[in-house]
Amino acid sequence: MNSHAPAPVPGDDRDWTFVITDGCDECGFRPFAPAETARRLSDGTGRWRAVLERPDVAQRPSDRVWSALEYACHVRDMVRLLGERVKAMRDQEDPEFADWDGDAKAVELAYWAADPGTTWEDLERSTRRTVTVLESVPAEDLGRAGHRSDGVAFTIASLSQYIGHEMEHHLHDVRG
Ligand SMILES: [Zn+2]
Repeated sequence: MNSHAPAPVPGDDRDWTFVITDGCDECGFRPFAPAETARRLSDGTGRWRAVLERPDVAQRPSDRVWSALEYACHVRDMVRLLGERVKAMRDQEDPEFADWDGDAKAVELAYWAADPGTTWEDLERSTRRTVTVLESVPAEDLGRAGHRSDGVAFTIASLSQYIGHEMEHHLHDVRG
């Protein structure tokens, strides 16, 4: 690990699953039709491209807030992870999802030191892969189930909302 690594920002322990049914007042997200997920994700990725071209992309607004670059890395990894979960729900009966600690991942993968250009390419690839999985799910399978290790249950339809929110909430965080 590079000795210039900044202190981790304080973690976010909130359970964000409420956005699936209630939307999110913080970013203005409202639940949408699952069929729109692919387009919403693709639109969001285009907005991240502009964010990642900012000259100050790696600069944290404060010690307690991720830089836009760190948020982009988080979205890249979340979109990939959630796409893998949709694939598991499509292919297996009620799979269990392993724990994922986004704050620990940020430290482990040194999000703060990522290359913005590579991050953009990887985010675009993550999104494309997840969109391909979503588009492979027939409408009658949107109710297929999966659950987190803490017991919280999802369907492919509800997880689609969660992915869309992940993409758009963090664009709101960075004013992208
Ligand atoms: Zn939000």
